[in-house]
Amino acid sequence: MGERSRSTFALPAQSLVADYLCQSRASLTQYDIDMRPRFRDISSAEREWLAGLDMDVYVPIHAQDEWIGLLALGPKISGNRYFGDELLFLSTFADQTAVALENARLFDDLKARSEEIARLNQDLVRANTELARVGQAKSDFIDIASHELRTPLTQVRGYADMLKEMLEEESLKPETGARMLKGLKLAAMRLEEIIDTMFDVAQIDTETLELKLVSESVSRVVEGAVEEWIEALKERKHTLTLQGLDDLPHVQADYKRLKQAFSHLIQNAIKYTPDGGQIRIKGQLLEWVLPQDQAIEIVISDTGIGIAEDDLDQIFAKFYRVGNVLLHSTGKTKFKGAGPGLGLPIARGIVEAHGGRLWAESAGCDEEKCPGSEFHVVLPLHPKTQSTGRQRPNTLRVAPNPLLS
Ligand code: ADP
Repeated sequence: MGERSRSTFALPAQSLVADYLCQSRASLTQYDIDMRPRFRDISSAEREWLAGLDMDVYVPIHAQDEWIGLLALGPKISGNRYFGDELLFLSTFADQTAVALENARLFDDLKARSEEIARLNQDLVRANTELARVGQAKSDFIDIASHELRTPLTQVRGYADMLKEMLEEESLKPETGARMLKGLKLAAMRLEEIIDTMFDVAQIDTETLELKLVSESVSRVVEGAVEEWIEALKERKHTLTLQGLDDLPHVQADYKRLKQAFSHLIQNAIKYTPDGGQIRIKGQLLEWVLPQDQAIEIVISDTGIGIAEDDLDQIFAKFYRVGNVLLHSTGKTKFKGAGPGLGLPIARGIVEAHGGRLWAESAGCDEEKCPGSEFHVVLPLHPKTQSTGRQRPNTLRVAPNPLLS
């Protein structure tokens, strides 16, 4: 029918033609624009613009009450004008185009909505998984806390009952009394230790752990941590070697807290390695292009049972322990003698508070082949830490740890 047709274009903002097409919802020919008195006042700019289009007929497309498009057709090849039936046909065609466009729009809406629902669904699944994890961590906490606290509490009660009986029977010998008091003291110390551990985690969680930083030798910190486990190392017949620590530059550290972090890592290496294993603590300087990015790395490796790939990150979550929590024997240095599952979250919280990073690497968990585990501690020489109004000079507050939430 027409030589050229365009389904879309933009009319000038102030346009008599546009007003007409919008209000009348009827087709309009260029002949009408040129001849009808209604369009006599069209501005010369609009007239020029229309002439530039070189169209012969305009048919507005309305969807419900909204003007959504315009069909414009150029002059016929024959040079004749568009008349009644053709204009009627074009109006019907515009109505059908409106339906098609509306359907396409509805389809797009539907698609966008179904994508949004799929996204929300994914969020919901993630939130549910997280909720289930938190719920599991809570019930693990109750199981572990009661399990951990029950042993020393039972000891306290047992000794108290025995002392009472012996005192009543007047059969208490001084050496028996001294042994019982020692047992009571050890049980009380264990209770204190459990409470301290939970308090440390709470401080890391609430970002209220404060560090007193001074220039510190990592070698001194590691040696201090090793000293705590000399007896256990002998008992479990493990060999521990230190390598490359003396040459390392000093870091900004809180001796007590950093020692605590290394102590947890050494304790785990002792626990998760069968008797007669090798534990190595190796240090090296990591040189980066920028001097301010320089850091030291300390790797604690063992010849123990190793860690499954899926657990490498999880073990840093609070109360997370591999396997059934209540099947673990409770013990500080016994083979696989698990504690409350707070050692690694605390160690990571402390290392991160020093601006550093702590992660685990292992070729898998195998109690027969013992592939071993490596725990990497990276401490920057110039930690980039945020100062807060509440801080004292040379103190740092712990950085939030996403794995602890
Ligand atoms: P726990 O008090 O149970 O030792 P941790 O937070 O210190 O808690 O460790 C969490 C879990 O990570 C442990 O239960 C253990 O399964 C695993 N794990 C930690 N260190 C090692 C290691 N050196 N070798 C193998 N598994 C380890």
